[in-house]
Amino acid sequence: MAWILNENLKNAAKQYPQQTACLFDGKRTSYEQLDLLADQFASALVKHGIGKGDKVALLLDNCLQFVIAYYGILRTGAAVVPMNPIYTAREIAYILTNSQAKTAIAGSAASKILADSKQQYGTLELVIFTEAVESEWSFEQFMQEGSELFESASVTEDDLAVILYTSGTTGDPKGAMLTHRNLASNAEATCQLFDLTQKDRVVVVLPVFHVFSMTTCMNASIACGATMLMLPKFSPAAVVDMIRDEKATVFCGVPTMYSFMLQLPQATADDFCSLRLCVSGGAAMPVELLKKFEDKYKAPILEGYGLSESSPVAAFNTLNRVRKPGSIGVEIPGVKIRVVDPDGHDVPTGEVGELIIYGPGVMKGYLGMPEATAAAIKDGWLYTGDMATMDEEGFLFIVDRKKDIILVGGYNVYPREVEEVLYQHPAVMEAAVIGLLDQEYGEIVKAFIVKQDEQLTDSEIMNFCQDKLARYKLPRQIEFLTELPKNRTGKILRRALRS
Ligand code: AMP
Repeated sequence: MAWILNENLKNAAKQYPQQTACLFDGKRTSYEQLDLLADQFASALVKHGIGKGDKVALLLDNCLQFVIAYYGILRTGAAVVPMNPIYTAREIAYILTNSQAKTAIAGSAASKILADSKQQYGTLELVIFTEAVESEWSFEQFMQEGSELFESASVTEDDLAVILYTSGTTGDPKGAMLTHRNLASNAEATCQLFDLTQKDRVVVVLPVFHVFSMTTCMNASIACGATMLMLPKFSPAAVVDMIRDEKATVFCGVPTMYSFMLQLPQATADDFCSLRLCVSGGAAMPVELLKKFEDKYKAPILEGYGLSESSPVAAFNTLNRVRKPGSIGVEIPGVKIRVVDPDGHDVPTGEVGELIIYGPGVMKGYLGMPEATAAAIKDGWLYTGDMATMDEEGFLFIVDRKKDIILVGGYNVYPREVEEVLYQHPAVMEAAVIGLLDQEYGEIVKAFIVKQDEQLTDSEIMNFCQDKLARYKLPRQIEFLTELPKNRTGKILRRALRS
């Protein structure tokens, strides 16, 4: 069967018409209803001239309309351009211009920004708002334009499905072009890795505009006919309530979410008893945090790894193999991973090199950026910029992003290694490490710490690290913060720490 993303929703509607596809804001929508709504939305878009080759921007937090619009857009043959609705006017304008999206679907919060960019850039022709905004289309009204009788445009596996602007923790965002093959193959792989079936109830709290949630929570659930338990924003208490009350079976989160859930004084293992699988990804899961969470809630966490450019899942600690805490697991079926030196040759087992990926999830390239594409993909292999080691059993360990490595007097310091030690201190809630320019050593290690216990001092931290790290890796400066700067997907914004 061909990998066409929007066909998965049709199939789920045929096989499990009455099954709840999505629970959002107290409302349950069945697969049959979701399928009809997506058709109706698609036919309204077509009536407004949208079809193959077009790009439609989606500026929404998690909500039912996101799912309807996403699958509706795909059915017209157009590509979806999801973005974080809290982006600034400059960021939104950049993405709209770069992607050439002429249509946008947004919440009322973005109405001012979109009205401005409509005037300034003139590329936006049609804007649909999920809440009423004066003299603009509302989602409801727009849906009335369409009909439930809709024949999806014919698309191939190689056609563009989604353009994802990568998380923006570095430089100007680039639009990763993901095809139907890229995304549908990864949704299928996720179903197998998670052992997902229509009996599963998946918490969807990670933002679906980001690739991690888009594939592992939304597209995989739809591919298997599972139920999405959707929340608009992360609040640890609301997630625990949802897991307990709706008997969730799968939870996907970034490490920060696990850290916040661990701090909840009233939550107990009983709240988590329906969960058969917790998945962590998007950033390194500190081993201490994983252990504490599992000890308290008795719910197993499996870590995986991926990136926007690989749709995303490339490695995972699978359910039926021995897992290794601190490892991102092994390459997933159908995907090849190597760890290479700067010349592209495999490094010996256990040595650090760049992690590269080959497989059906690897993007077509960056939109309109042939040079950046050629630098990222060589002979079909995606160069991730992540430094890793592989052990003799094929388990991979991310040591850090290439650009985050700190050079102290000529020695490499991987921030991750220092952070893992900091997390071992019971009074440390969160930690991040960067390099500071230094006249003598080139760079020195600086640690930012969020305290769990107010009594904690910098000299206590220094003493704690003393016998656990080589001298050049020891933090020379420590700053206490009330929280670490992060983006919506939980990635620490090191750029903000450096400034
Ligand atoms: P994004 O494209 O926003 O999904 O970001 C992908 C990047 O997140 C990767 O290149 C890694 O640097 C990081 N990442 C994802 N999963 C993990 C993980 N399990 N451990 C460490 N870093 C990760």
